[in-house]
Amino acid sequence: MLVRYTDADRNVRVLIADTTFVARDAYRRLQCSPLALHLISQAMTGAILMVAELKTKGTLSLKFEGSGPAGHITVEANSDGEARGFAGDLNVDIETQDNRSWFESALGSGLLTVRKRLSTTDEIFTSAVEIETGSLAFNLSCFLAKSDQVPSAMSLICDLDPAQGVKAAGGILIQALPDANDHILTILEDRLATLSKEQWLGEPVIPIRDLADTLLEGLHPVKLASTELSYRCHCSHERLKRILAALPQSDLLEMAESDSDTEMLCRFCTKPYVFSRDEIRSLIRA
Ligand SMILES: [Zn+2]
Repeated sequence: MLVRYTDADRNVRVLIADTTFVARDAYRRLQCSPLALHLISQAMTGAILMVAELKTKGTLSLKFEGSGPAGHITVEANSDGEARGFAGDLNVDIETQDNRSWFESALGSGLLTVRKRLSTTDEIFTSAVEIETGSLAFNLSCFLAKSDQVPSAMSLICDLDPAQGVKAAGGILIQALPDANDHILTILEDRLATLSKEQWLGEPVIPIRDLADTLLEGLHPVKLASTELSYRCHCSHERLKRILAALPQSDLLEMAESDSDTEMLCRFCTKPYVFSRDEIRSLIRA
């Protein structure tokens, strides 16, 4: 569930998301390592928060691509509250070093590419920035402040559990509204930075109402709209065929001449798709 709040004087917008079930579903489908799950879960929550602040309905994807062992983390979320994600190496498993965060150790240096597609006009906006040291949430806050020029603060949590994969996952995005009182934004940023793990986790797993009351204490929180969230993949035979068509001709020739049909798994949801040798042959350019 994602819930939007504002203060009575409309200085800030506060978006709070409980993405526990989205992350658990990602784990059930991807069966990835705890580190990959942690990163995919945080990136999906970030994308869910960022797509919710688009002015119209649309889709937003984030790709963190770096020199580190995870390769890349790619996620997508839309205005209907649907998200999906995967990693370059789903089994990535490393020790963090020199007090670096899991994010820094797994991704290393590289680029964050943000792609937005607005449903109403089908317009696509793509921007890329260098990945900064610090957390995944810090990188997204910097992106929003620099590229979108909206003063923003984001915090993400992902608490892992050996049995379920994810005990709790969620995130908060605070953004200044036009003509906001700077002092109020600073107060909220401080409150967000000092939230304890005990305040983040409760009953339900992410206590959205309590978090809104804590962050907006004394500012008369006003609850706005809410959106249900889910892990959802819109893959299809046609979409995967387009990915196949982009492979090198030599790979397609090898598949067309092999003894069996080609099975391809969707990277986001692991659903299998079978392509006959005739279908593969039709993709080979004469
Ligand atoms: Zn899929």
